[in-house]
Amino acid sequence: MRYSKLLIPTLREDPTEAEVISHRLMMRAGMIRKVSAGIYNFLPVGLRVLSKVAKIVREEMEHAGAQEILMPALQPAELWQETGRWQQYGKELMRLKDRHDRDFCLGPTHEEVITDLVRREVKSYRQLPINLYQIQTKFRDEIRPRFGLMRGREFVMKDAYSFDADLEGAKENYKKMYDAYHKIFSRLGLRFRAVEADTGLIGGSSSHEFMVLAQTGEEGIASCTKCDYAANVERAELKKGAGGRGPGAGEVKGLEKVQTPDKKTVEEVSAFLKATPPQLVKTLLFSADGRPLAVLVRGDHQVNEIKVRRLLGVSDLILADAGKVEAWTGGPSGFSGPVGLKNIEIIGDLSVEVMPESIVGANEKDAHYLHAVPGRDFKVDRFADLRNAVAGDACPRCGAPVSIDRGIEVGHVFMLGTKYSEAMKATFLDSKGEEQFFVMGCYGIGVSRIIAAAIEQNHDEKGIIWPMPIAPFAIHIIPVQDQSERVMITAELIYGSMIRAGIETIIEDRSERAGVKFNDADLLGVPYQVVLGEKNLHEGFVELKNRRTGEKQKVEVEKAIDHLIELVQGPRPQPAS
Ligand code: ATP
Ligand code: MG
Repeated sequence: MRYSKLLIPTLREDPTEAEVISHRLMMRAGMIRKVSAGIYNFLPVGLRVLSKVAKIVREEMEHAGAQEILMPALQPAELWQETGRWQQYGKELMRLKDRHDRDFCLGPTHEEVITDLVRREVKSYRQLPINLYQIQTKFRDEIRPRFGLMRGREFVMKDAYSFDADLEGAKENYKKMYDAYHKIFSRLGLRFRAVEADTGLIGGSSSHEFMVLAQTGEEGIASCTKCDYAANVERAELKKGAGGRGPGAGEVKGLEKVQTPDKKTVEEVSAFLKATPPQLVKTLLFSADGRPLAVLVRGDHQVNEIKVRRLLGVSDLILADAGKVEAWTGGPSGFSGPVGLKNIEIIGDLSVEVMPESIVGANEKDAHYLHAVPGRDFKVDRFADLRNAVAGDACPRCGAPVSIDRGIEVGHVFMLGTKYSEAMKATFLDSKGEEQFFVMGCYGIGVSRIIAAAIEQNHDEKGIIWPMPIAPFAIHIIPVQDQSERVMITAELIYGSMIRAGIETIIEDRSERAGVKFNDADLLGVPYQVVLGEKNLHEGFVELKNRRTGEKQKVEVEKAIDHLIELVQGPRPQPAS
């Protein structure tokens, strides 16, 4: 491809609305342009990368025995009413009406449509197992569409759905998809981890998320440093004592009130009292389905609202505002504590249960208590696992410490069981002629999100550094002095040879200053740059730059073509001697 003929509107400055690096770089490299919040145009370079990701996904799905289909984005409400999700899905579902005033939605996912298809077309156990997939545009009216392709309102997903005669078969299909996902993310050239997302539903692990590791990831991942346990920090189960007992041993003194003027946060209070955050207990007040609730966690821990909700079976959990805190505790927010609390359910994290003593708020302006002991100084209705995992917590499987990485969820495999087939009465006849519900699994990959995740993981201050498998081009030819005949002829010669060899190559044929060309090349992130200048050519060399390492190498002009082909395609087979 010729640079001058492609629409690559690079930007020198960071667009103000782009908060994360992948979004900034995709905008600056001219890959995407925003149409509306969470809705983007893919420009030529962006689309090339998207197609490459899709191709690898497709190949591995086919390899795993899944068949490609294409379902509609526009879906009738009736199907969603059958499963009850027309109500449950809430505002994330993009709803619309046709001219006859009938309800439709733009599909955020396709369980209903596929189950409807399969219940009509698959009647016998002889037709099973079957796994159908598509790569298609999804619509979700996310509360906060952000970070460019990372969380869009319209995005490209690969979704596969497996149908089996029994749970055994479904587990096999699940395993096949799990393995296929490993292949896909390895082939994409990304560092990733599969983490347990939910366990024990149907026996064994019934859901895994695939995370691309990146410091900027939205999700924390707790990985055991010894065994292969890995889970989302929000979902990692923590046993009693997982975080140690915390400091403080020996004789525990009686409760003592101390002044802590204007010290509200854990950091402020602990610094002021010459203590450390693990010696404090934080008291967070929530309205739980309208009822007051106090949740206690150690000062260095974070409350996990999903765990709290699950424990209490509540759907609405809202942090109490200053007015409610004052009304329920008698003190201003920032100084809440469990001592003397009345008419409020108090639940505590397991790590609070094992603390010998703690510093807590006194429900009074500018005051805290020292040496507070659960049971002695305050009551706790229930202790349970209520927090996110942190580095050093004991692995729930083997007890070794876990480490924490950040990740971006790019894929999800999920055992559905008969949830949808029962709701939609999707059955087949088994070998005895009896009617059975299909046992299903669903498997998603965020095809467009992968691009963002790949950039979060692979970039430097100059721009993108594409892993070769998804790079828009393998080679970027940069003739520096475009008015020089020798430079241009050699560049064209190399370019032509690359194209004939089937290597995706872009040639910089704009008449721009060398600096502009170099900056744009680094921004675009093509793995290899071939730089041609008068001086080097005069000496018989071209310069080869590795975008990732920054390493520059002089290659003889005569050997350049073979060298580049070998670099991209691997060594050519030697003739047998
Ligand atoms: P998240 O927790 O990030 O909202 P999810 O659990 O809603 O994801 P799934 O329904 O499992 O996601 O969808 C499958 C995959 O689609 C996800 O793993 C993710 O990679 C991708 N995905 C989900 N929502 C979006 C979005 N709004 N924009 C881009 N990709 C998305
Ligand atoms: Mg979501």
